[in-house]
Amino acid sequence: MNIHEYQAKQLLKHYGVAVPAGEPCKTVEEARAVAETIFGSGHQCAVVKSQIHAGGRGKGVFQSGFQGGVKLAHSVAEVVSHAKNMLGNVLVTKQTGPDGRLVSTILVAVAETIQREFYLAVLLDRANSRPLLMASTQGGVDIEEVAAKTPERILKEWIDPAIGLLPFQARQVACGLGLKGDLFNGAVKLILGVYKTWWECDASLVEINPLCVVETAGRQQAVVAVDAKISLDDNGLYRHPDLQAMRDLTEESPLEIAASKFNLNYIKLDGNIACLVNGAGLAMATMDIIQHYGGKPANFLDVGGGASKEQVTAAFRIILQDPHVKAIFVNIFGGIMDCNVIANGIVAAAKETHLSLPLVVRLEGNNAQAGRKTLAESGLTLIRGDSMAHAAQEVVKAVNA
Ligand code: ADP
Ligand code: MG
Repeated sequence: MNIHEYQAKQLLKHYGVAVPAGEPCKTVEEARAVAETIFGSGHQCAVVKSQIHAGGRGKGVFQSGFQGGVKLAHSVAEVVSHAKNMLGNVLVTKQTGPDGRLVSTILVAVAETIQREFYLAVLLDRANSRPLLMASTQGGVDIEEVAAKTPERILKEWIDPAIGLLPFQARQVACGLGLKGDLFNGAVKLILGVYKTWWECDASLVEINPLCVVETAGRQQAVVAVDAKISLDDNGLYRHPDLQAMRDLTEESPLEIAASKFNLNYIKLDGNIACLVNGAGLAMATMDIIQHYGGKPANFLDVGGGASKEQVTAAFRIILQDPHVKAIFVNIFGGIMDCNVIANGIVAAAKETHLSLPLVVRLEGNNAQAGRKTLAESGLTLIRGDSMAHAAQEVVKAVNA
């Protein structure tokens, strides 16, 4: 699960990480009030930031033509004007795809006087089974590009999960970023706080890009997290009702939300052959074999190890809401699952949804014979797949017919 920048900053702040003062706003009036507080307390500049679950907002463009999902403002009136241009409009960035995302919340914050920009992240290094702290002096830009072109500019510290991030490792990174004196001490504290956030929230990623050296009042300097992205591990969410409450359903695809209500793992793809499969591994293999025979899967759908009739019906309903779907491929291997339960589910679902698309079914395993009998006697027109390969060829043939 992803959360918004303003939520990520609330968490980081809780763990002692310095972030620019600011508040999320859902209306222009709220934005005006926050701007008044910022300018009223002597700040010369504010920033208005679109809150969507995608990066690249600074360089993004609104469908209205308005340039920039992150804008500086030098007066309350300018904040209000940016708020009007952002709220209720769709922002397209490199990461949103052409459809963009509707902006329904903005973050109005103090604009910092940035002197240097760094990159800082904590993630899980699956190859080494350890948390990894990554930093670079090349902040504010595409980190993937830095990693590809100048990998030596990325500092890495692997963390022993049983001990946690040790102060010397944080010092190593702060030193590698070229920080000295108070800035060095500030960075060490910040890095330890970022790791603590990652660990205690069961996050899969905490990314600060840019992490900045900023000028504060009285010509002092400080290290501040100017942007923040946090992805949480769904498997750890049950431990954090407060984080669960941060879920923003408007950022998720409606079909994926419907699927999660029935405990179905559904991910929409851009092909035209819908798949209904039990088990994630078989679902992957099914997508592969469809591609192998020249077809394109419309989705990944795993009904799990012990699907009920209700789940199968829900799965059909979800699949059929995608207008690109031209055929359905049901691929079931009954291990724990009783194939006859699935067969009954298919019959009920096909009848309920008045299915008119070609349906290819491959049933194998536990009670498969009874399942096939149920299908044969149901009166449904369906194509029987004798093997996975045969079924895949049949479904590709059906969409190309
Ligand atoms: P994104 O990564 O989605 O483009 P950022 O939050 O990184 O969004 O903002 C883009 C740029 O805007 C930053 O690199 C920074 O230069 C500037 N910026 C963002 N927030 C602030 C802030 N509070 N003060 C000053 N500049 C900011
Ligand atoms: Mg950024």
